Amino acid sequence: MKALIYQGPGKKSLEERPIPALMKPTDAVVKIIKTTICGTDLHILKGDVPTCQPGRILGHEGVGIIDKIGESVTTLKVGDHVLISCITSDGKCEYCKKGMYSHCVDGGWILGNQIDGTQAEYVRIPYADTSLYKLPSDIDYDAVVLLSDILPTSFECGVLNGKIQPGNTVAIVGAGPIGLAALLTAQFYSPAEIIMIDPDDYRLEMGKKLGATTTINNKKLDAVKTVFDITNKRGVDTAIEAVGIPETFVLCEDIVAAGGTIANIGVHGVKVDLHLERLCSHNITITTRLVDTITTPMLLKTLIAKKFNPTSLISHHFKFDNILDAYETFSHAADSKAIKVIIDI
Ligand SMILES: [Zn+2]
Ligand SMILES: [Zn+2]
Repeated sequence: MKALIYQGPGKKSLEERPIPALMKPTDAVVKIIKTTICGTDLHILKGDVPTCQPGRILGHEGVGIIDKIGESVTTLKVGDHVLISCITSDGKCEYCKKGMYSHCVDGGWILGNQIDGTQAEYVRIPYADTSLYKLPSDIDYDAVVLLSDILPTSFECGVLNGKIQPGNTVAIVGAGPIGLAALLTAQFYSPAEIIMIDPDDYRLEMGKKLGATTTINNKKLDAVKTVFDITNKRGVDTAIEAVGIPETFVLCEDIVAAGGTIANIGVHGVKVDLHLERLCSHNITITTRLVDTITTPMLLKTLIAKKFNPTSLISHHFKFDNILDAYETFSHAADSKAIKVIIDI
């Protein structure tokens, strides 16, 4: 089979690999129909993720058909169409029992990281019963691929942790794929105002189309002053950090209202200043989380019921043979205007 291989910092290639076999009775092997590229894959390619070693097949998102099934798997069978969760969970350890699948002692985010991933014709999925979700046959697979990672991540780390409530004022700092996905799922809770902040006008325009009430280009405008001007000098109830650099986290600290919440989604590579000299008396909450994918069944039901449509996040389609072009497009998003790229296998 063909597979996209991480070859060390800055290097990747499309190569022939053997089709994976079942290794444990709880495994399934899935024939991939669609996959996508995540910002995290770009982090791996920069050499920022030491757990991912050269030779690894990348990818932790996808939809496919079960090709082989281990004898202990009880809820799935060969031929079932499934969503692959970016988080593997055994469903029975202490963390899984608390709903923290991301910290599963024999799982978590291992796919396309510590074990071979989904940017291939086939992938082996451990703990198939608890790491795969069976799909109805008449569902839009493009939309479902977005439920592997980006939608549960934005929803759990941004919207749920951010305690968004009807009538609240929300700011989303960063209008990349994850910020825009947070914008979509924030609207489940009918906030009164959603302010998107980003230096890229095209992404802000997307934000406007997808439901932002105000957009602020923080390269052109003083974002803090603008937020205070439009919130009666209060600031926002929820500030969602969807970038992962010190400047954007500090911006969240600057715009959060008294009693508000800063919900961090961004993956931070360096330390960030926490301005307790100002925030210690501000009654705020700061939350961090790795996606647990515990809301995946809920998001799937919502999608099946057509209560939201995430396909507006898809900017490009590629054939698997052209996955290197897909990486090129996705990694130059400012020029290519890429949001999410779908790869058909
Ligand atoms: Zn991801
Ligand atoms: Zn577990």
